[in-house]
Amino acid sequence: MRIVQKFGGTSVGSIERIQATAKIIKGELEQGNEIAVVVSAMSGETNRLLHLANNINDNPPMREVDALVATGEQVTAALLAIELDALGVSAYSFSGAQAGFKTEGCHTKARIKDVQGDHLIKHMERGEVPVVTGFQGVDAKGDVTTLGRGGSDTSAVALAIAVKADSCDIYTDVDGIYTTDPRIEPNARKMDSISYEEMLEFASLGAKVLQTRSVELGMRYNMPIHLRSSFDLVEGTRVSKEDSNMERAEISGVAHNRDEAKVTIKGIPDQPGIAAAVFGPVAAADINVDVIVQNISEDGQTDLTFTVPRNDYQATMDLLNTLCTKMNAREVTGDNTVAKISIIGVGMRSHTGVAKKMFDVLAQENINIQMITTSEIKVTVVLEEKYIEVAVRALHQAFNLAQD
Ligand code: ASP
Ligand code: MG
Repeated sequence: MRIVQKFGGTSVGSIERIQATAKIIKGELEQGNEIAVVVSAMSGETNRLLHLANNINDNPPMREVDALVATGEQVTAALLAIELDALGVSAYSFSGAQAGFKTEGCHTKARIKDVQGDHLIKHMERGEVPVVTGFQGVDAKGDVTTLGRGGSDTSAVALAIAVKADSCDIYTDVDGIYTTDPRIEPNARKMDSISYEEMLEFASLGAKVLQTRSVELGMRYNMPIHLRSSFDLVEGTRVSKEDSNMERAEISGVAHNRDEAKVTIKGIPDQPGIAAAVFGPVAAADINVDVIVQNISEDGQTDLTFTVPRNDYQATMDLLNTLCTKMNAREVTGDNTVAKISIIGVGMRSHTGVAKKMFDVLAQENINIQMITTSEIKVTVVLEEKYIEVAVRALHQAFNLAQD
């Protein structure tokens, strides 16, 4: 097999961890696999470098920020190649530019345009291990760019596609994706496999194990991703294309997010353009809106309720209060003690009554649902934060997700 292995910050966070990582790589080589590696910076290093820049200048030039933070990955790539050499493995470190990562010029959040994998394939075919810096590339001017926080996941998937790997193995400090948060429900079960779409839904709800873009890229090119732990070499969770032959459970998991707040603008004159008039300024303020509900209008007036990240609550309230006066609306109310809970699963496509079952379970627990939204493979409700744990456990049990 040809495998791209990616090691995150905790897997290269110290000399001991780099040594353990080198052993994992050597082990895979000895199984007869061809290997290329992508590394993150040591854990905490990217933050440390950003602090240094901000200590000197509140508004450092983005080109220089990229030149600075890209060094974190260069350190770990070289150290890992040095350690592999000590174990008798031929290894060569490559910066993003050397590896052939071409990006757009947008510093600190560049997108990958192209990766040239041919020269790396030659090394791999000779049994040598290219160790490539994640998170970085080079733009058309030859300047170093970075891909946004967590970007080395995306580097790894892009490299796997470029070298035509059979799998992209992402090593981290958790051993997979669970049916729900094990800190709330101890009977949560690690999932063996999950579809790209499900992984995207889990990620959008705070399962921050993989950068979302890496999953989107994997999905576009059908690159299997194996999410696993470098601390415990058990099978992790495999993220791949939905297997249509598989018998699916009603849902795959229950996700939640406490980082939510709810705002309502009441009594807005109901006329064309009001949603645009509200959400335009909200978007311009860089506030991410999630669940939206607009009430049926009464006497020519309507209410609009939506959720935002809790951090943006005050800014959103201020903005809506200004809009309220401008638009001649009645009042603005808000609540920053709400949370969101979702049931997720491709099984919803073939089972009926899944949403109803969720509502029944919450009703039995006497939990009031404040807002509801659905997609093809997800049902989300907004509720009072204090009910989150009860709701997670009740749903996990009702949908039979526990360990067998
Ligand atoms: N080192 C970068 C970060 O901390 C990229 C990564 O680790 O994925 O965001
Ligand atoms: Mg990461």
